[in-house]
Amino acid sequence: MDAARQELSETIDRQADDLVAFLSRFVATPSPNPPGDTRAACAVLSGALEAAGLEYEVIAPHPEMPNIVASFEGGAGAGPHLVLNGHIDVFPVEDPSVWSRAPWSGEVADGRIWGRGVIDMKCGTAALLHAYRLLHGVRHRLKGRLTLTCVSDEETVGPWGARWLVENMPERVLGDVLLSAEATGRHAIYFAERGVFWLTITVRTPGAHGAYGHVTPSASRIAARLIGDLAEIETIAGAPSDNIAAVLARAATSIDASHGEGASAMLDKVTLNVAMVNAGVKNNMIPARVELVLDVRLPIGMSKADVMPAIAAIVARYPQSSIEHGEVLEPNWCDPVHPLVDILQANARALTGVRPDPIVCLGMTDARLWRYAGVPAFVYGSTTEGTAGIDEHVEIADYLHVVKAHTLSAYDYLTA
Ligand SMILES: [Zn+2]
Repeated sequence: MDAARQELSETIDRQADDLVAFLSRFVATPSPNPPGDTRAACAVLSGALEAAGLEYEVIAPHPEMPNIVASFEGGAGAGPHLVLNGHIDVFPVEDPSVWSRAPWSGEVADGRIWGRGVIDMKCGTAALLHAYRLLHGVRHRLKGRLTLTCVSDEETVGPWGARWLVENMPERVLGDVLLSAEATGRHAIYFAERGVFWLTITVRTPGAHGAYGHVTPSASRIAARLIGDLAEIETIAGAPSDNIAAVLARAATSIDASHGEGASAMLDKVTLNVAMVNAGVKNNMIPARVELVLDVRLPIGMSKADVMPAIAAIVARYPQSSIEHGEVLEPNWCDPVHPLVDILQANARALTGVRPDPIVCLGMTDARLWRYAGVPAFVYGSTTEGTAGIDEHVEIADYLHVVKAHTLSAYDYLTA
């Protein structure tokens, strides 16, 4: 029995009240993005590092969106460089009046911590910070190096957070493997993410008075037919490599358990969301212009270039329409066979009885930036239920589990 490991686990139990109070304070310090000003919430994190006597650097390429980077060397010789990553910014609150508790209260009640961003991902970021703090206390036993990155500008996929760090100081933040604590649910470890790209299709016609249907085609009717035709792209099948396909087939039950019935069936397909339809100005005019904003999701193994010919061919059926290209985030993945995955699975099972499977994330996280750079990146965290919703909350037990799972897994990885 490893006494230091046992002591880490017991320390987390002993400090449970302080860990909860810390997360409550972090949630009660608003950091909605947009607008993305995270200075106050960042100060909550840096305050905790300071209180523990830990060194850190604040890196703020955008003055209102600071990032924290902290590292230490283990005292037991050479080993891998493990990087922990969490974000500080959270989704905004649309209408606080429909929440049953104030969204920025951080209230602790009914065995839960309540507030905007507690799932995505203040619970995870707090857990990583405490894992870093606790591991620093046993650094003489660790090999290699541990780095903590707490970043801003994640929720809008912006350039000032993890993207800036990875592009501008790769030697400090890339490491050999990344561990993130974004919410996954207990059944999942993310090793991959679907891709996404956005397009705007504009249909233009001369338009006319609503009674003069003989002088112009209607842009809205053309757009309706175009939307119908675009569903054809959802029949394009993905082509994952054999090893990835095998992993996903084994994980189908876990994927549905984490994300709801039907999620696993979506993962190897192209999916289309007609996100916005903007048309018309007045009830007695034939619209001259319709704007369709499309959100296209890609299975791993596929890229935008594989889907664009089909979209272009459909759009070409309607000569009144044109395409404008938006941002592209290509799918990303790493080899799910990795010692850190084995360690996470073993610790998760020991702590909760559930052994999480490696699966593809439906949305996107900053972990993609490490995978794009060739660094394996894995995500394990709290429940995903209620993410970005009204009355967002996390069970205290779930949060403490995430603290323990990450602390012990990082310890195991750096002592292996
Ligand atoms: Zn997130």
